[in-house]
Amino acid sequence: MANPLGLVCSLQPSPSQKLRAVQEMGIPTVQISYDPQWDSSEGIAAIRQAVRDTGIEITSLAVSYVGDNYKDVPTVRETVGLVPEATRGERLERLKAASRFAAQLNVPRLTTHIGYIPEDASDARYPALVETVREVCDELATRGQFFALETGQETAPTLLRFIGDVNRANLRVNFDPANMILYGNGEPIPALDLLAPWVDGVHCKDGKAPTEPDKLGREMPLGQGDVDVPRWIEKLLGVGYRGPLTIEREISGDEQKQDVLRAKTLLEACLSASK
Ligand code: MG
Repeated sequence: MANPLGLVCSLQPSPSQKLRAVQEMGIPTVQISYDPQWDSSEGIAAIRQAVRDTGIEITSLAVSYVGDNYKDVPTVRETVGLVPEATRGERLERLKAASRFAAQLNVPRLTTHIGYIPEDASDARYPALVETVREVCDELATRGQFFALETGQETAPTLLRFIGDVNRANLRVNFDPANMILYGNGEPIPALDLLAPWVDGVHCKDGKAPTEPDKLGREMPLGQGDVDVPRWIEKLLGVGYRGPLTIEREISGDEQKQDVLRAKTLLEACLSASK
């Protein structure tokens, strides 16, 4: 089915409990986050069993890193993704481990925040980042996997130029419209025009723009931020996107569940309006 709904989730407290909870919400796909706790033959067997029991499809594996810190813009610049030199080697190894893990689960796609791509290509950090992402793409290509960069920490033109400079056939974009707003990096709907050919995953997330310099904006329940969700979904379908609509709500507990269910209702209404 085109555009199945999905959910960003961990595998806590266990793969079977989590996938059953997702099944109960009526959501047929998930993006799971890479957690070395489950990266063992027992862990992989437990995930496979949970997938068989629930019929839920794992569409992608999100990789984040020990030491990533999203407190404010300067901290994100210093700590997140593959940009910081001091942690690049260990994070590359984590991505490669995650790729081997994904292959055992037949998950065809890894996503990550690579960090702030320098807006200026003459920045000394730029060529190293291009080389690092090439290395990741080449490793994932050996397993037939795509590598999708999550949007938002740079403008769409900068991301587009970077994709061209990396120049690898398995490089893609995971389009998160809220991040563009949260980081003050432009309007997501026009950005889709530029990035559409590379989009092979999305996060259905919403947010309000930052109100102070160097601060991030505020994540909001889907439909309550600045994204204009109905228009964004219409645009996504219009540019030919047929992949999952993966809901992301970065809070926890019952409030998260209620927000996810409301997001599901909103997305279903958007999809039926488009028919
Ligand atoms: Mg996201």
